[in-house]
Amino acid sequence: MPDAPGGSGAERVAVCATCGASPPAGEEAAALLTWSRGSENGREVWTCAACSRRHLRSIEGKLDSAWW
Ligand SMILES: [Zn+2]
Repeated sequence: MPDAPGGSGAERVAVCATCGASPPAGEEAAALLTWSRGSENGREVWTCAACSRRHLRSIEGKLDSAWW
């Protein structure tokens, strides 16, 4: 039995931290190639392709660590 500390069922499911979208089942690996992965307080944070593009301007304008 896997003993995941604090894990309550959901493991390594990538969800967009901005819009909450998740890759379609079976396409997760491919989808994540277009997603941006960041880290926030040691946690893995994903941003989907659409949100990455949407926020690209603000990211370039000001590197706000709050986003990443
Ligand atoms: Zn998104």
